[in-house]
Amino acid sequence: MKRLDDAELQARAANIRCLFLDIDGVLTDGKLYIGANGEETKTNYVRDGLGIRMMLKAGLQVAVISGRPSESMRARLSWLGVEHIALDTEDKAPAYVRIRDALGLADAQCAHMGDDTPDLPLMERVALALSVADAHPKALSAAHWVSRYNGGNGAVREAIDLILEAQGRA
Ligand SMILES: [Mg+2]
Repeated sequence: MKRLDDAELQARAANIRCLFLDIDGVLTDGKLYIGANGEETKTNYVRDGLGIRMMLKAGLQVAVISGRPSESMRARLSWLGVEHIALDTEDKAPAYVRIRDALGLADAQCAHMGDDTPDLPLMERVALALSVADAHPKALSAAHWVSRYNGGNGAVREAIDLILEAQGRA
């Protein structure tokens, strides 16, 4: 367990300039509805989307890195204002480094929210490793903080509220 005491949690959250998010199991409930022609449908939680807009409006960055392709998610994220989107990335670390460097940030200014083992390399290097209530046990173990909500059910919004409140921006 890597849980932080509240003072350390607040201190790290106050420094965050970019929140990196996984899609499946974080922005969604992790379920894929497969249509007759193989097309995938996922659900999004409106409260999470509003949180992303709040974070961007506050001048902070949101980046999304997913191991799977999803043009419908790219469209929704772009509509929300997310500029840094890396999809279909088997290894998330290079995508993270590329976006972090493009933003001119250090690991100490980055948070990542993930729910499964592909997220572990990022969770181990960022200042703030965040996860969801129904995450894989290894992601739960790697997390500094775990949302009370499941993926796709308000976990992202709770994480964003934590960051914004630590920065006095809520
Ligand atoms: Mg995931």
